Amino acid sequence: MQSMFRNDLLAGKRILVTGGGTGLGKELTEEYLRLGAELHICGRRKGVLDDTAAELAAKHGGAVKTHVCDVRVPAAVDEMVGRIWTESGPLTGLVNNAAGNIISPTESLSTRGFDAVAGIVFHGSFYVTQACGRRWIEGGMRASVLSILVTWVWNGSPYTVPSAMSKAGVNIMTKSLAVEWGRHGIRLNAIAPGPFPTKGAWERLRPGKAIDGSDDDLSGIPMGRVGDMTELKNIAAFLMADGCEYLTGQCIAIDGAAHLASGGNYAHLWRRSDEEWMRVREMAKGASDRDKALRKA
Ligand code: NAP
Repeated sequence: MQSMFRNDLLAGKRILVTGGGTGLGKELTEEYLRLGAELHICGRRKGVLDDTAAELAAKHGGAVKTHVCDVRVPAAVDEMVGRIWTESGPLTGLVNNAAGNIISPTESLSTRGFDAVAGIVFHGSFYVTQACGRRWIEGGMRASVLSILVTWVWNGSPYTVPSAMSKAGVNIMTKSLAVEWGRHGIRLNAIAPGPFPTKGAWERLRPGKAIDGSDDDLSGIPMGRVGDMTELKNIAAFLMADGCEYLTGQCIAIDGAAHLASGGNYAHLWRRSDEEWMRVREMAKGASDRDKALRKA
């Protein structure tokens, strides 16, 4: 699989990718950098952000600036976005990618767990979008916002209800603001990826499964495979580039038709026993605790 675009497609763009230190966010950051943009990434773990920035700058040249910021905290978000504007210049694009997720029978989920996921996805995506949007409108600037959603925004997902509710909210934000901010030249779109193996998603949502997706059950995906990161990078570059400004308010699935064929969600887990849930929860908690320790380091 190969890139569809020439190397200077995003020259002159300045893009913030939330959660850009890992997984899909890191892949998109790398692609935008390769295509000539200046990149800003944020997350809660400074070491992870700095390592990613150093790795990508060494590979492609250019600038990747890092910001330790918890998107659940509106003042921290506004401070970060203000700092980018004054120290680097206005952003031309934003990717709402940061997320958290917990897989669990909903009746045993704590309200704290619900708040953690909703805080990052639902509240955080709004805080960052609003902090940027306000400045774009004040400065009379055109811009592109891309939110990374899930196909469950259309049909829900049992066992990941906080994520399904929050992502569906961000889908509606995308449509609402496409209308409200259209006259300012600010467009908002979203991508709903099917399974694209990343350490973060696999450790939390498919604990015990190989991170390359090789031992996943792919029978619900008509194309019979997980996504290739290059495919995701291509559509994310297309949505951030000039030349398709009339495209706004859309959420595009890239999932090999999984959600159309089999729901593309966690409905099949109704067969899981209590013992299995306990085992899976312990494994996911181990991954979460390891990440938390890195946030304190
Ligand atoms: P990931 O590697 O765990 O990425 C999540 C990122 O969000 C991390 O870099 C994390 O950094 C950051 N983050 C979490 N909480 C944050 C907070 N409060 N403030 C700032 N940053 C925060 O997982 P991923 O698989 O790449 O997922 C990325 C996006 O793709 C998510 O929106 C996910 O829902 C979506 N997605 C993924 C798949 C897939 O198959 N992988 C499928 C559909 C949709 P820190 O922990 O350092 O803060």
